[in-house]
Amino acid sequence: MSDWLGIAGRRAVVTGAGSGIGRACAQALAAAGAEVIGVDRDLSALAGTGLAAESCDISVEADVLALAERVGPCDIVVNAAGIIRPGALSEVALADWNALIAVNLTGYLLTSRAFAIGMGGRGGGTLVHVASISGAHPQANSGAYSASKAALIMMSQQLALELGAQGIRSNTVSPGMVRTPMTEQYYAVPGVTERRGAAVPLGRVADPSDIADVVTFLASDRARYVTGADIVVDGGFTTTLMSWVPRPGYE
Ligand code: NAD
Repeated sequence: MSDWLGIAGRRAVVTGAGSGIGRACAQALAAAGAEVIGVDRDLSALAGTGLAAESCDISVEADVLALAERVGPCDIVVNAAGIIRPGALSEVALADWNALIAVNLTGYLLTSRAFAIGMGGRGGGTLVHVASISGAHPQANSGAYSASKAALIMMSQQLALELGAQGIRSNTVSPGMVRTPMTEQYYAVPGVTERRGAAVPLGRVADPSDIADVVTFLASDRARYVTGADIVVDGGFTTTLMSWVPRPGYE
């Protein structure tokens, strides 16, 4: 049982490894014995992580191709880089819409296909993309965010179909509410952490490690027959819809 996950010695590339969920994924994979290459557009964010650090803007194809060239073949890609841009769809600036899609969707495609080529050459590999429950549940005033995550979940399924014959798996993890630097602005407001936690059946907002452990499982051979899947990691939050319905006698 010492290496139950079978990840020891695998080469893993993690995007967005400088912060939040990506950093937790990189740490979890490293703890499982993988050789982890941390990728972020903010190289300084990778300082002190103990990871091999690579700078790359995943929305720029030339950057991603150069990254794949430098890093060489790998077994695992975790796509966790991401951005948010506020705005109602009636007025979101096209530049904001395009910038978000460029990172959260196109960037995931660019890294996936750049590294899938090398995976095919070594008999297979695994792609894990960090999506969101926002991909199945629209989030108002979040610009292109929900659309980008819905499209990512579908893109991952298509990758699973197209790459399965090469032994390459593609799956998404959809987190619910996670406290990270991306969302810290909300939790910094007094009471929000408690109110958000109270809305979750498991009674708390997620820590990045809650997501990273599921990502690590999907990246491992223990999930060898799992592809095209989306695993919701939200403490049960998205099962609470019926709790909104007034039902005298049952409350
Ligand atoms: P974060 O802001 O803490 O970390 C994101 C990292 O991605 C940063 O280090 C940033 O520099 C990097 N990055 C951004 N754009 C990049 C680019 N173009 N190229 C390379 N690196 C880039 O955010 P987080 O909360 O850890 O989010 C990680 C992923 O999880 C995102 O895809 C996000 O949408 C998703 N997610 C987050 C939550 C949450 O509640 N925090 C919930 C669901 C899904």
